[in-house]
Amino acid sequence: MHFQAFPPFPSSAGNVLFFVRHHLYKWKSYIRIDMDGKFVGGQFSPKKLRGGRRCFSRSIGGSAISCSNSMGRDLYVPSNEKITNARLIYAVAPAMGHNQESHPESNFRLPAIVNALEKMELTPKIRGSEIIELHNFKPASVDDIASVHARAYVLGLEKAMDQASQEGIIFIDGSGPTYATSTTFHESLVAAGAGITLVDSVVMSRPGTSVAASKNCLDPPVGFALIRPPGHHAIPKGPMGFCVFGNLAIAAHYAQRVHGLKRVFIIDFDVHHGNGTNDAFYDDPDIFFLSTHQDGSYPGTGKVDEVGHGDGEGTTLNLPLPGGSGDIAMTTVFDEVIVPCAQRFKPDIILVSAGYDGHVLDPLASLQFTTGTYYMLASNIKQLAKDLCGGRCVFFLEGGYNLDSLSYSVADSFCAFLGERSLASEFDNPAILYDEPSTKVKQVIQRVKHIHSL
Ligand SMILES: [Zn+2]
Repeated sequence: MHFQAFPPFPSSAGNVLFFVRHHLYKWKSYIRIDMDGKFVGGQFSPKKLRGGRRCFSRSIGGSAISCSNSMGRDLYVPSNEKITNARLIYAVAPAMGHNQESHPESNFRLPAIVNALEKMELTPKIRGSEIIELHNFKPASVDDIASVHARAYVLGLEKAMDQASQEGIIFIDGSGPTYATSTTFHESLVAAGAGITLVDSVVMSRPGTSVAASKNCLDPPVGFALIRPPGHHAIPKGPMGFCVFGNLAIAAHYAQRVHGLKRVFIIDFDVHHGNGTNDAFYDDPDIFFLSTHQDGSYPGTGKVDEVGHGDGEGTTLNLPLPGGSGDIAMTTVFDEVIVPCAQRFKPDIILVSAGYDGHVLDPLASLQFTTGTYYMLASNIKQLAKDLCGGRCVFFLEGGYNLDSLSYSVADSFCAFLGERSLASEFDNPAILYDEPSTKVKQVIQRVKHIHSL
């Protein structure tokens, strides 16, 4: 297992900087980061712009499409006509330079997903206007990130990049096993920027409508930010558990600030507790955070009695599932907890921390979700967004460390967004499943329903 017990985190952002500057050490074997990660189907590389600012560029079939920081963010959103014809819009931010050999959160993850999407013909190349891939998106600004994280942490990480260039790779002490390379800062801004641009895309989705009017339009495409590093463990003061910036939390604040969407409903079905998102909104009555996770898994937070604080009391719901919980447990949770909770909250947008490490084949946990479970979640969450908030919904990739189960579960989620049948029967092997702990599952669901008056 690669997750370790989380040591006490420094009590101030200043301390985080101290650790970053003075407690760096070389990884056992010096790793030279190749900036041009290559994989079948495309080539990703960070590109240096004038003024020292880097920009993300992806070259496909020889034609490079790149972005620049000098243009307004609305220029990155596809035309309203394109948006209204699409059922799914996604962005890929693979962070090819952010990698550590043998680490489960590796730069193999996104290429594996992209390959599966291509193999299963779930790309715009095959599907035309039904699916949009955003090639062009602006990295998040430091101000965007500072809506969730301490500015001192953000700027300290940027400064630590020089050190990372010399060392090849650094560990940020006190952050759980979170590493950084010379490209981590910029690639983390790109990841958060992809999420923000997808929020723009699913909100601004009718020709000639104002932002306020577009809030009432129905049936925009579902957004999916296929990004890394993941975000839901990153706490306001620093990185944690493979996560650098809280991509979803940043997008939630952005949706409120820029689009005037007041109420945000967050569903986090990663196998680990989304403690960073939990902490960011613990006092906030306008952002509902609902997390299902495996009881006792990293980082150990997310007990049923953690329900929010002050004005935010009641707008955090934690549901730790016993090990071995699978499709039956999650379907029951969806019907009996997630749906009534969302209906009562009346959100303006739904954001999803989509971790695929609850899959039975995942090496980091022991739930028994299957590809079919993820299809069910994607399909039901899409319908929930349609019923409650005009279909406005963006998924954010979190965990998922078995490359096969990760990539096929994401691909089957795409099938759900497109309203097509699940391909899970081709991937899932029922013979490896064992009985779910149904009594324990029922007990925890009843307890949560009682605590939250559902
Ligand atoms: Zn996870």
